[in-house]
Amino acid sequence: LNVGVVNEVGADELRVALNPEMVARLTQSGLELLVETGAGDGARYSDGDYRAAGAAVVARDELTARADLLVSVGRLPPDLLRELGGGRAVAGLLNALSDPPLIRDLAAAGVTVISLDCLPRTLSRAQPMDALSSQASVAGYKAVLVAANAYDRYFPLLMTAAGTAPPAEVLVLGAGIAGLQAIATARRLGAVVTGYDVRPQAAEEVRSLGARFLELDTGPSDAEAGDGGYARELTPERQREQRDELARRLPGFDVVITTAQVPGRRPPVLITAESLAKLAPGAVVVDMAAGPLGGNVESSVPGETVVTEAGVKVIGAGNLAAAVPRAASDAYARTMHALITLLVRDGALAVDLDDDVQAGVVITHGGAVTHPAAHDAVE
Ligand code: NAD
Repeated sequence: LNVGVVNEVGADELRVALNPEMVARLTQSGLELLVETGAGDGARYSDGDYRAAGAAVVARDELTARADLLVSVGRLPPDLLRELGGGRAVAGLLNALSDPPLIRDLAAAGVTVISLDCLPRTLSRAQPMDALSSQASVAGYKAVLVAANAYDRYFPLLMTAAGTAPPAEVLVLGAGIAGLQAIATARRLGAVVTGYDVRPQAAEEVRSLGARFLELDTGPSDAEAGDGGYARELTPERQREQRDELARRLPGFDVVITTAQVPGRRPPVLITAESLAKLAPGAVVVDMAAGPLGGNVESSVPGETVVTEAGVKVIGAGNLAAAVPRAASDAYARTMHALITLLVRDGALAVDLDDDVQAGVVITHGGAVTHPAAHDAVE
């Protein structure tokens, strides 16, 4: 089986799907590895590093012509995917469910599409393949560094001969994987940290990191904890209550990092333009949920910093995991290695849709759309 590592195409995408260490492990297990020229450059892995690990370094044309399983971090251009013929496979954080026409085409062409973002993450067997968690953790760490860099005062309490600087008050909204890493990182920098989430079980996790949990009069409540430890979308009335109460609690915070997501939905708006006006000049807001579908902060723009009239910096964080490319690639490579190990038997791709982990990530296989959610979208 030829496993091909693509040179990522996304703007500002510096990560690579397999590092030389994982390439060496896969070649030792009998697979042929093809790595596109320059694929590791963004993560400081040279073509020579991959050759030394046992891979052949090839141009894009050769990669797409020869790879039986093409692996990527992010989405790949539809044209490239359509070039792969029947019996070939592609795996990555492809977000495939968002493009039903492409799924239909690839199924018809006999391409197996494996979308790691669909992993059933709560199954313990799936945990070594949990790329979303590994990347969210890197992003949560980076969000704090981005905030600290944009903030014009200190995070820690500093007592010096030149006077005493108070610590920054940091609020993290959404205490999932990214939020908890942001809380831990802000604490390490010496800030006084408060966390908040709609899921009641998050309170204990926030407190265990030495942060305060923000108790809103409106919640949290068990009704907001959905399947698999994820949050449910709030009712419109609860959303309004939450936004209003958050607006009342925002003054006094110097830095706000928002991470709230609900699987398959638009990110909830937690901070309106009106709420932003309650923050003091110099405050920094990092919206980690900012993306094409909106974000947690009403005025955030993905990939840009907007300064409000009141002097609050609103940073629409783009792809923050890609901004720590080496650590993010190393973590991703381990998850990709685990996925490949699951999918390959006796040197060949052996997709088994009776396996609940594989059934969760495989979107198309054997000329058909196999994933139930994709099936509904394609119909
Ligand atoms: P996510 O990226 O989907 O969401 C981030 C956070 O936003 C979540 O904690 C969610 O509760 C919160 N959120 C959603 N709506 C909100 C709102 N209106 N206000 C405030 N917060 C809101 O989630 P994630 O970080 O990928 O994972 C969330 C949780 O899923 C984890 O903490 C864990 O409990 C569970 N999970 C479990 C496993 C496992 O069992 N192995 C793996 C991954 C995730």
